[in-house]
Amino acid sequence: MLRAYDAWDTSPLVLPRPTRLYSLASLAPIGVGTPMVESLTGYIVRLAEAHCVSAGLLYWKEIRSLAGKGNIFTFRVTNGNGYSTHTINGLGAPAADFVRVLERLTGRHNLHTLTLLTWAQVLPRAALLRRARAWCESCVHAWHQAHQPLYEPLLGTLQAVTVCPYHQRPLRHVCPHCTHPLGPLDWRSRAAYCSRCAHTLVPPAVGPVHTLPRPELLWATWVASACGELLAAAPQLGCPPGRDRLAHTIGRCIEHTSAGNASAFARLLQVGAAMSAGGNEAKRCHGSRSCCAWPMVWGPHCWTSSWAPQPQWRLGAW
Ligand SMILES: [Zn+2]
Ligand SMILES: [Zn+2]
Repeated sequence: MLRAYDAWDTSPLVLPRPTRLYSLASLAPIGVGTPMVESLTGYIVRLAEAHCVSAGLLYWKEIRSLAGKGNIFTFRVTNGNGYSTHTINGLGAPAADFVRVLERLTGRHNLHTLTLLTWAQVLPRAALLRRARAWCESCVHAWHQAHQPLYEPLLGTLQAVTVCPYHQRPLRHVCPHCTHPLGPLDWRSRAAYCSRCAHTLVPPAVGPVHTLPRPELLWATWVASACGELLAAAPQLGCPPGRDRLAHTIGRCIEHTSAGNASAFARLLQVGAAMSAGGNEAKRCHGSRSCCAWPMVWGPHCWTSSWAPQPQWRLGAW
């Protein structure tokens, strides 16, 4: 008896282009489009673990020659000498080089969202990123308990962020076992492990912590939340925000809150004299930490054309 079989689909299979490093969905960067987006150095560390090699070996064998860098593992947190690995998460050439190479090796796009490259025109290069790792023990403990991947959020690399916005817990800066600060990318870096003594950074339990006085804690939490909003917005921005937009926004704020008096506005925000000449000055004080902290403090909304100063932002309200 003849039996009818289903027709075969003979259309040619379209396979994705092979990539040098894994491009698995399970290895996608974590938290893209959220305040807890992964950092690029943290992503390199997880890539290395997935390939069962150390972060140092992955860099040395696969990344080094393409990135045109030498030995990046010369950095010493304690004296600041050597290659500044924290700049891989930043907004300059090192970050751009590593993004280019890792996108090529993994076939992924938008890895720039794991860095601050989106904000290259409006954030300062100096004093923006901390040189050593900082992490929230409550976050790490919660991820471990929930069997979620352990990783390094980009938020913790910002010097302005001193507490976790979710747990209102001051970030930890040294290994609890060897009490050493840890570089963002060391030869033996592993997610949630100390790269010096190799002990886990996952605490067995998290109890109450000696925290900041309440006003300071509220301020630090707000700053951390605002910075998180900024990082979360990066994938949605069609083009990187420019200095002109920042200058325009500052000008509108000065107009709204201080009747155009830039000096009064600078005093209101407790920023330096660089701000006192008005919004256009923002172009020239690009290196000023206080000036360029503005887009971080205001969050991503100040980049939209419909943004307007809020009514509560009046003199004396802060
Ligand atoms: Zn936390
Ligand atoms: Zn240690």
